[in-house]
Amino acid sequence: MTALPDDLSTDEIIRSLASGRPTTWLRSTPTEAALPDLGAVMDSAAARFDCFAPWFATTFPETSTVPAELAEAFPEAGGGMIESTLMPAPAAQRRLDDLFGSDLVGRLWLKRDDSLPVSGSIKARGGFHEVLEFAEAVAADHGLDVLDSATYSSVQFREIAANHRIVVGSTGNLGLSIGILSARLGFAVSVHMSADAREWKKTMLRDHGVDVIEHVGDFVEAVEAGRASAETAANTHFVDDEDSVSLFAGYSVAALRLKRQFAAVGVTIDDRNPLTVYLPCGIGGGPGGVTFGLRRVFGTAVRCIFVEPSRAPAMFLGVRTGRHSDISVHDIGLSGATAADGLAVARPSRFIGPTIGPLISGFAAVPDEVIRAGVGVLHETEGIDVEPSATAGLTIPWRMGDAAAQSQTGVHLVWLTGGAMVPDDECAAYVDEGLGLVDRIGSPASAIFVD
Ligand SMILES: *Cc1c(COP(=O)(O)O)cnc(C)c1O
Repeated sequence: MTALPDDLSTDEIIRSLASGRPTTWLRSTPTEAALPDLGAVMDSAAARFDCFAPWFATTFPETSTVPAELAEAFPEAGGGMIESTLMPAPAAQRRLDDLFGSDLVGRLWLKRDDSLPVSGSIKARGGFHEVLEFAEAVAADHGLDVLDSATYSSVQFREIAANHRIVVGSTGNLGLSIGILSARLGFAVSVHMSADAREWKKTMLRDHGVDVIEHVGDFVEAVEAGRASAETAANTHFVDDEDSVSLFAGYSVAALRLKRQFAAVGVTIDDRNPLTVYLPCGIGGGPGGVTFGLRRVFGTAVRCIFVEPSRAPAMFLGVRTGRHSDISVHDIGLSGATAADGLAVARPSRFIGPTIGPLISGFAAVPDEVIRAGVGVLHETEGIDVEPSATAGLTIPWRMGDAAAQSQTGVHLVWLTGGAMVPDDECAAYVDEGLGLVDRIGSPASAIFVD
């Protein structure tokens, strides 16, 4: 293990992180933190999704009917809704109670962003929103009717779009969401992929007509390359995963929807029945946007816990040290490499930690084996197949210690963030590997810190 910088070696939480041990840090202070002044970004993003719903319904026929579970929460929805279901997971809860030898107080729920329409991951929220916002701006520049969704299928719009390019750097899923949607709107699109990106994601994007540029370096390098290529180019929009308010706004809409979904199944979230949400975290944009929305919607009745692989706890480190994007996991001797490719990020967002940091109630880092085993547990208990990144939060309700979650009743919501696009053979391999690890999902135990 590399020596820690002197000023960090006195922090036992950082020492635990640097050792690679599973670590949970629950913060007792942030509940009263003020919401950042981001105006009405959540509401305007929600309105934008509504405006584009008819376009989605005609462009992607699989979205034209609203699934029954969603129709109950959104009776007015007429198709083209990019939303996932909410489900209780009693079988997974019983199995994890057994595996950890302790009974969770409260009830386990799953948010199924693994099966969001069109791009099969949480990136369908933020990524789609930024592409739609850009499409709207381009249409406005050319005097088209931005509020009529038919505009975006018109020959006139498509001719204009063909002269505009969208560029993004990605470990995979953001590239998929941006690439697929941009190409469908008629934009030229370039996706810069890091070494962690899975081969099938590149192939799928190329099949959609997307330019895929492969990099041998990590996510930050792919983002830098994308940014540099976009800087000098005319009519080019760079989607900046390190710093984007538009992505953030798209993610936040999940909270408005979630409130209605809980209401539709008769669950009231309040201080007597609090909600704890476990969010897999990469650069922080997805969980950051969702957290902002949830705190707007549920106030102090919600606690959001960010969960990262123990070799890539970028947000955890950034917030704990207060250095945010000025520190990388490499600085404490961690590799940043992980089987959870969607979470393979060494340095956090420039934007999320400083603005949303105070709203985050806790952080957890778990080893890859625990993440992989989660795929097995979900397969065997709930018949759900997801990609490894998606399961990062699954065991955290059991890894919070008596002081925190276990003494609290309420609703534990594990956010499943990706999986529907994974090809069958890769999916079967994840499941096989996960099933073989299920018995070890509880070990090693987490070091738990409360402050
Ligand atoms: C991107 C991603 C996340 C985390 O989102 P960030 O914005 O990178 O923090 C979680 N799970 C999956 C499957 C992802 O693709």
